[in-house]
Amino acid sequence: MSANNYIATPKRTKEILANYKFFFKKSLGQNFIIDANILKNIIDHTGIDKDSGVIEIGPGIGALTEQLGLHAKKVLAFEIDQRLLPILGDTLDQYENIQFIHQDILQADVKASIRDNFSEDQDVHIVANLPYYITTPILTKLLQEKLPVESITVMIQKEVAERMAAKPSTKAYGSLTIAIQYYTMAEVVMHVPKSVFMPQPNVDSAVLKLTIREKPPVYVANEKYFFSMVQACFSQRRKTLRNNLTNYLSGEYDKETISMMLDNIGIDGMRRGESLNMEEFATLANTFYEAKQH
Ligand code: SAM
Repeated sequence: MSANNYIATPKRTKEILANYKFFFKKSLGQNFIIDANILKNIIDHTGIDKDSGVIEIGPGIGALTEQLGLHAKKVLAFEIDQRLLPILGDTLDQYENIQFIHQDILQADVKASIRDNFSEDQDVHIVANLPYYITTPILTKLLQEKLPVESITVMIQKEVAERMAAKPSTKAYGSLTIAIQYYTMAEVVMHVPKSVFMPQPNVDSAVLKLTIREKPPVYVANEKYFFSMVQACFSQRRKTLRNNLTNYLSGEYDKETISMMLDNIGIDGMRRGESLNMEEFATLANTFYEAKQH
């Protein structure tokens, strides 16, 4: 396939849309990429090679799928919109290493699909231009299922990418940052202009690369407790840690006891949640969790 005949060109995309009388469904977050150079840049960041297995979410008419098919050993793509399946079957007909599954990714058993389609010693990566309306549910699902994958590289709304990759004491830093960075090393690898999409979205986009950690960077006694504690510390961003915790633990401890417990672990209760790093959140949650057990 020559570069000027890739699906990711304005001309070819328009032809495909017209031939199949396809109309975009905004409710499914359908913004297709029409620039093959952007796709190659994304693929360069993913770390995939000719032996890799790839899971794609939302292939659309196959712009990214085609490039993945050219660079990886096997691609498995989940698409929710039934109207796109016959189009994909035609446009990517000559790629024997690409397979489509008509399914909502939120309902899919991705672990079983990986087991059934890739070999045990194969590197598997997730790559997608995600439907922006469900970015966080999709990433949360993929991470919580602890899939045997090396990385997740996704195009998402720029602000969300920045929140996921944020550093402490910045505006973007929050409970979502901790949830993502507990499982992965997160990095914004590219900013992407609106002009490479059809139709153009209303928001700016960025590519986020999540490299899955072999184990969390901190010891956490109880993950559920840890994540709800983190959420509580950010519940009113302008309030001090001591005040947010007093609200959160109102049935269990008074303000003075909370201050004392914070002093004991060397965390100043007058700080704001946004100034705590992952290690401090872990110490905090472990301390209160262990106190609860006695
Ligand atoms: N990959 C294509 C591209 O880059 O041109 C299309 C990306 S478009 C932003 C998002 C795609 O995800 C659409 O094809 C949409 O139909 C699909 N989609 C939306 N919700 C989905 C879901 N829950 N599960 C699987 N696919 C979904």
